[in-house]
Order: sequence, then C-alpha cells, then structure tokens
Amino acid sequence: MATKRINPADVAMKQVELAQKYLDLDHGIFEKLRHTERDIIVHFPVKMDDGIVRVFTGYRIQHNDTRGPFKGGIRYHPDVNLDEVRALAMWMTWKSAVVNIPFGGAKGGVTCNPKQLSMGELERITRRFTWEISSFIGPEMDIPAPDVYTNPQVMAWIMDTYSMRKGYAVPGVVTGKPIELGGSVGRFEATAKGVFVTAVEATKHLNLPIESSKVAIQGAGNVGGVAARFFERAGARVVAISDSKGGLYNPKGLSIDKALKCKNRYSCFIEEEIGEAEIITNEELLQIDCDILVPCALESQITEENAPKVKCKLVVEGANGPTTPEADDILFDAGIFIVPDILANAGGVTVSYFEWVQNLQELLWSEEEVSTRLTNIMSRSFLEVLRISQERKVHMRIAALILGIGRVAEAARLRGIFP
Ligand code: NAD
Repeated sequence: MATKRINPADVAMKQVELAQKYLDLDHGIFEKLRHTERDIIVHFPVKMDDGIVRVFTGYRIQHNDTRGPFKGGIRYHPDVNLDEVRALAMWMTWKSAVVNIPFGGAKGGVTCNPKQLSMGELERITRRFTWEISSFIGPEMDIPAPDVYTNPQVMAWIMDTYSMRKGYAVPGVVTGKPIELGGSVGRFEATAKGVFVTAVEATKHLNLPIESSKVAIQGAGNVGGVAARFFERAGARVVAISDSKGGLYNPKGLSIDKALKCKNRYSCFIEEEIGEAEIITNEELLQIDCDILVPCALESQITEENAPKVKCKLVVEGANGPTTPEADDILFDAGIFIVPDILANAGGVTVSYFEWVQNLQELLWSEEEVSTRLTNIMSRSFLEVLRISQERKVHMRIAALILGIGRVAEAARLRGIFP
C-alpha cells in the first residue's frame, strides 16, 4: 500500500524514544527496554503434501518479562520477518502494562502463505514450529495466542504438541484455544469488543453519538469482522469494510451479515452478493468520508503520504502499528483523535489473561463475568490514558506509551539488575 517501505522496528523504536522525552528514565533501564530479551529464530523442515520437504523460518521474540510471563500472538504471513516480530513483541509489552495485566510482551510468526497451504501442511508447520520453540514457552514462561492468519485450531495444535512433549495436558501454554480445550468464552470476540468499548469511550469524549456515526473498517478478520458487528449492533452505519483483496462501500451503510457471509463463502467480497455496494481499494477505504476509521489489518497503513487525505474524526487502531509516527503528527494537527493500538486492541490480551487464569485455577467463568471484567478494564484504561493526555498535553499515543512504558520501567527499577 505505502510506496515507501516502512520498518515497524524503526517505528517502535521511535515511539520509545519519544516517550523517553516525557519519562526521563534512568539510562540503564531505558537501554534495557529498547532491547528484546531473547530472539529465537528457527529454520525447520516440513514435509509438504506432494512429498517435497520445504524449510520454513519461524520466530519467537521475547521482548520483556519484567511484569510477568511473556505473552503475544503468532502470525502466519509471507511478510513475517525479524524486525516486524520484534516491533510486535515490544508493543505487546507496553500493551499488557497499559491495561495493567501481569504479563510481559512477546510475538511469534512463521514466514509462509497460509492461503496456499492445505490443512495438513498448516498442522505440520504448526506442530514442528511449536516443537522447535517448546523449550522457551510454557504457562509460567511464555504464552502464545492467535494473530493474523492463525486461529483457535492452530492454538489447539500448539497445545497438543506442547502437551505431548510434557506427557500431560497443559492448556495454559496458549490462549485463544477452542472452548472445548480450555478456551475462554468471549476470547474470540475480545479484541473487537475492546476496540468497540474504547471507541464508545472516545465518542463520549468527543460528543460524537455512536448511533449516528459512519464507520469504515479495514480488515474483516477476527478483529475487523467482529468489530463491524459490534458497531452495527450499536446502531452505527458501517459504510466500508475490506480484506486483503479490497473492500465494499455504501454511504447508506452495509449489511455486515451479508458482507461477512459472502466473505466466508467465497473468500472475498462480491458486489452482486451484497446488494447496494461498490468495490473500493484499501487505499480508498482509508480516505472515505466517515466519522470513525478502524484499521484492523496490518502495520504501516496510514502513512505520511495518505494521512493528509484521511477524513474521519476518530481513528481506533484495531491493528498493531497501523499508523506511522509521521502520519500520527499529520492526524494530530488535523484534529483527528486517535485511540492507539496498545490501548484499543488490548481486549485480546486481557481475555487471554482471563483464559490463562481460568486454566491455572481450573475454573470456568461465565460469559457475563468475562464481558463485564473486560468492559471495566478497557473503559478504565481509556480514561487513565485520556487523563495523562490532558494532564501532560500530549496526544493519546504518547499518553499510552507514558503509562505502559512507565509501568514496565518502574517494575524494572524495583527488580533491579541481576546479579
Ligand atoms: P485475521 O487473520 O483474523 O484477519 C486479518 C484481516 O486483514 C483479513 O480480513 C485479511 O484479509 C486482512 N488483510 C490482510 N492483509 C491486508 C492488507 N494488505 N490490506 C487490507 N487488509 C488486509 O487477523 P486479526 O487477528 O484480525 O488481526 C488483525 C490485526 O489486529 C493485526 O494487526 C493483529 O496484530 C491485530 N491484533 C489481533 C489480535 C487478536 O486477538 N487476533 C489482538 C490484538 C491485535
């Protein structure tokens, strides 16, 4: 999408350096937080359906575990690389701290194209990758979860492979599992629900009634697709939604049910299946005249090139790292309010934490319990970040970084440096 190649690790580093101006951390602690604790890179063979062996590269990057076990998703995508996973791991650390969950931050991924893999190949890749990193994960050490193009089935294979190695069932090794294997009710919807709750808090702050707002959503997966349903249910008009191939637009509002059914059936959006809607590109979606823009796909989508054309009042970042620092400044100057990723999409890690707690204690919480706790944490965190933003006169991203990095830094100071 962007013409200039943007490195997410540079973006993540720029953000920490920006936050340091306000935090003024001790040099040693700042240095520690700028670095990942452990980078695991594995190259592993997998037998494909045609009998040929292919070697895949996988990553598990553990950024920081000062406040608790490493935590973060696993992504399967052709563009997965060391710098991307490092950035995503760092954002996980700040995110867990923003919502005050006792986890650190990690991320993983395998460079592959799941759209070209059979279920059997996907399973063998997952199991072998899990085996390769299994000395470094576990309920007390590092707990993976789903991310782009991984899902509850992939988590089930991870749980099974790890359990086979241990010799007994270890449900707490991953979150986002199927309910039947110790997954939590409400985990599948959790990230989208968190996006929605923080969006509602932001609309209250901006005096922008959610019922009459026009919403454009980039990405129609676990985050974007489910978020679209939450917005529609609240009475908002979802005017656009997209996937990797492009999107749909109807200024009067789309039927999300029809759009998602079409995508499920044909793996893409088809105009004729939806009724009144026109096909648009992802670039066009970002420039649509709307009230709320919700990027829920990949990093570096809103850049200095297209940011001047963004026409919404509010951006709620369902995706990790969708806005570059240069674009941030442009949006801020244009008076566009941003709910940053490490706050907006923290509902996923929050309910992952609930899932892990239930697994460790062998408890089963009700849907209402999960939903109420999640809503409270997301609303409280939004208000905490907003307060910092008002007191320090900074925009919401800096405020969230001040809160998240500040909490991790204080924990690091208290623990001290070993030995
Ligand atoms: P997903 O695989 O369920 O869906 C990804 C969606 O993005 C799909 O609709 C896909 O078609 C679309 N997409 C892929 N490439 C695209 C492109 N170039 N342009 C536009 N759309 C594109 O993944 P997800 O879990 O919904 O994750 C989406 C984002 O949310 C990622 O940034 C992820 O890191 C972040 N996130 C996910 C979770 C979670 O719990 N799943 C939690 C926090 C953050």
